[in-house]
Amino acid sequence: MSENPTYFSVWNRPLNQGCFLNEKQAAILLKDLEAFTLGDLLRHFPFRYEDRSEILPIKSLSPGMALPAQIAARLEHYEFLGQGPGRRLSAKFQDESGVIEAIWFQKPDIISKFLHLGKTYLLFGRLNEFNGKLNFTHPEMEIFQPEKPRPVMEPVYFTTEKMKRMGMDSKSLNRIILRNLEARRLELKEPFSNSFMQASGLMGLDKSILEIHLPSSQNGLEKARERLKVEELFPLQFYLQQKRMNNKTSKQGFPMPRLESFNIFFNSHLPFSLTNAQKRVVKEIRSDLVSGKQMNRLIQGDVGSGKTIVAFLCMLMAIDNGYQACLMAPTEILANQHFIGISGLAEKIGIRVELLTGSTKTSARKKIVAGLDDGSINILIGTHALIEAYVQFNNLGLAVIDEQHRFGVAQRAALQSKTRERILPHILVMTATPIPRTLAMALYSDLDISAIDELPAGRIEIQTAHRLESQRMRVFGFIKEQILLGRQAYIVYPLIEESETLDLTNLMDGFESISRAFPEYHLSMVHGRMKSADKDFEMARFVKGETSIMVATTVIEVGVNVPNASIMVIENAERFGLTQMHQLRGRVGRGEYQSYCILMTGYKLSREGRLRIETMCRTTDGFEIAETDLKLRGPGDITGTRQSGLSGLKLTNLAEDSALLEKVRNWVADFLSLDPALSTEENKPLKHHLDDILKTKAHWNEIA
Ligand code: ADP
Ligand code: MG
Repeated sequence: MSENPTYFSVWNRPLNQGCFLNEKQAAILLKDLEAFTLGDLLRHFPFRYEDRSEILPIKSLSPGMALPAQIAARLEHYEFLGQGPGRRLSAKFQDESGVIEAIWFQKPDIISKFLHLGKTYLLFGRLNEFNGKLNFTHPEMEIFQPEKPRPVMEPVYFTTEKMKRMGMDSKSLNRIILRNLEARRLELKEPFSNSFMQASGLMGLDKSILEIHLPSSQNGLEKARERLKVEELFPLQFYLQQKRMNNKTSKQGFPMPRLESFNIFFNSHLPFSLTNAQKRVVKEIRSDLVSGKQMNRLIQGDVGSGKTIVAFLCMLMAIDNGYQACLMAPTEILANQHFIGISGLAEKIGIRVELLTGSTKTSARKKIVAGLDDGSINILIGTHALIEAYVQFNNLGLAVIDEQHRFGVAQRAALQSKTRERILPHILVMTATPIPRTLAMALYSDLDISAIDELPAGRIEIQTAHRLESQRMRVFGFIKEQILLGRQAYIVYPLIEESETLDLTNLMDGFESISRAFPEYHLSMVHGRMKSADKDFEMARFVKGETSIMVATTVIEVGVNVPNASIMVIENAERFGLTQMHQLRGRVGRGEYQSYCILMTGYKLSREGRLRIETMCRTTDGFEIAETDLKLRGPGDITGTRQSGLSGLKLTNLAEDSALLEKVRNWVADFLSLDPALSTEENKPLKHHLDDILKTKAHWNEIA
């Protein structure tokens, strides 16, 4: 607890202690909403608001109205109808414009007690059509008091059946929250200083909490939401920026000023001229490496943007200064491919590259261990095997991690500990998952980001089309044409998460029908449950062009490079996420040939599924796709392990709130430059507030 107990007691007060709830209710809130403290309950925000400002004339009601409607009408007549389960209370209400019936099947007797002929009621509810006539079924009802002020917007909360049974439907939940606010709102002290509040123009914390549960106007609600979003964003941004600042000032890195083999390679052996984006990123990394500080840099570059050569050039910088470098890839196939590619480049300048994966034989492994130890291995490429305990470098200066979203943070940390020195190696992370700018800002505040936002010249844009099951024969015909031209094709099946067996069956069935459709061609098949040696064998056959079609699950998603492949068929495309489809599409169009991506689906598509397919057909821009993906799915899925830092976002929508996020980042930067420890008198409450939040966010130290 802090030095200022009243300040925190409101947020931390257990719900079963003086919060106008009985033990049972508190227990249900804990179970169903994970709300343990009053703070949790106050942060159970309405998920929408019903506009009740408008009272409609009965004549204007129609069956197609999407939203619940509100009328004010006089009760003319009521009666009980039917028997047994069909027994109901029917009431006729009239206003100047017409008459409408309201019906209650549940508790008709109790409801009838509240009905008084001749009185005017406010009725609110959804409209039904029955036998050609409109009615309200189970409307909310209260006696109309024109002089009484009504809330402009009625908050609607998520509730569960159990909560309702315990007398906590949306309405009563609101009442409970407001009652608590009435009793304790003044204890909700503002953590920000007066001067900051004035400068920022933010609404006060206590007022925002009240406003979000009891809006006074649309504008007031907007301001409240803004403030509460700041509440969500500020602590994480503060945490990340502070960490970054500490890294920058304290983490020494190996200085790597010398360029020798780098120059030789750059001047005489580059297989192509670099794009401007590649050059820029190499320069950015170069300036990190000579700075004497540890580099922590993320390279974002769409599939095919040429990240590998950039990584290789950076490894040369490390080697030129007497250090070793390693490159870690998420799959064996990919590690292999990197090994082949990079050894090809390295042999031109006499650099020793080795490959270490789970299937490296013991004898070879021993040689590698020795070579790492005596420093004769310059570059080690591999999979997770690189972080196993027996792997010790002589002097690891640079660790490159490809497709990092596949790696947990713990693994990254393990990599860092592979060196004998107390100084940590430079870290370069490469990802082809284009991360929307806002998300990158929200998550990677402690990483520097470089973007390779340009594809090598001469690439022909991939053509993408949506095809239905009924057009399959034509699709197969097209694949044949391409194979006759000497090309190769991928046909990819989705992973079905609920059932691995179904998954495999799906793939096997597909494989069968493809073998029948293409009896004259050799096929490869790769899926997640094959031994990696078998996978590699199949993949290698495809890479060498010995097979024409690769039938696979998404294991081929990442990084694989077969420039001769020109068709990517995605089966059951509606099951794939956008980012994933984009990654798959990136497997083709890597050579000089016009390439195609065909999205196969059935007739029926969900709205979202259709949107994803349309987006894929419309654009090949990874950033646009990532933005759409973010809007459709929210940040969690895109970021994988990193979502931990964002799981607390209830109001903030990173796809829409980028401007606010930018503001918060700047505010945080201001605080950190003026009063980094938040030790001045006026910033003390903020310090307490953040400390208190951080206590509950232990998982944040796993971010980045
Ligand atoms: P990714 O960013 O997806 O990892 P790669 O590094 O595998 O991309 O590069 C994709 C392909 O483009 C490779 O065949 C590579 O040799 C080629 N490439 C990379 N940079 C250039 C360039 N500047 N000009 C021409 N081809 C390039
Ligand atoms: Mg790559």
